[in-house]
Amino acid sequence: MKIYRTTMGKGRSSDGGESLNSLHEQIKSCSRCPLAAGRNEAVPGEGPDRAEILLVGEAPGRDEDLAGRPFVGRAGSVLDRCLKEAGIHRSEVFITNVVKCRPPRNRRPKKEEVEACRPYLESQMELVRPKVVILMGNAATRAVLDMEGVTSLRGRIYRDLFFVTFHPAAVLRNGNFREEFVTDLSAAKERAQRERAEESR
Ligand code: SF4
Repeated sequence: MKIYRTTMGKGRSSDGGESLNSLHEQIKSCSRCPLAAGRNEAVPGEGPDRAEILLVGEAPGRDEDLAGRPFVGRAGSVLDRCLKEAGIHRSEVFITNVVKCRPPRNRRPKKEEVEACRPYLESQMELVRPKVVILMGNAATRAVLDMEGVTSLRGRIYRDLFFVTFHPAAVLRNGNFREEFVTDLSAAKERAQRERAEESR
């Protein structure tokens, strides 16, 4: 992985690596931060063990907390439709969040919660080995790149791996962002395809 090194020591598979399944089992029983107390279900994320595109949102909402799955509510429907418009099937991407448990009343995750949960995201990136990571919204951008301001940051690639775009909830609130969101998803897909083509040469 280009910048990530896992800091979690548990759940190593027989080849010396940590499996996604064992990592997600750790997340489901995690109590490393206060968000554990208010959750119904932790939401580790979902997608193939290896995916060319990995999407990162902010945190589970009410629907996700009940289902134990990421982006299943109204923002999830927007994400699904926009992925489709960009020629991406949801089943081919890995989707997760900066924090894996729902903050009370959907407030922003606190810095200490993000820090507590960060090793899980780092491990997921290391295991899934995406060619492109799409940071959706300011929380994800801040957590990973230590930058914010989606409008000014989108449209470029950072550290040879990361794209910045709107959070689907922002697209839901403001339809004007939709076209740019789809454009960003399409650009990420093209980048992943180029990387794959270069690798196979
Ligand atoms: S948000 Fe992350 S660190 Fe906090 S309890 Fe949930 S899985 Fe653990």
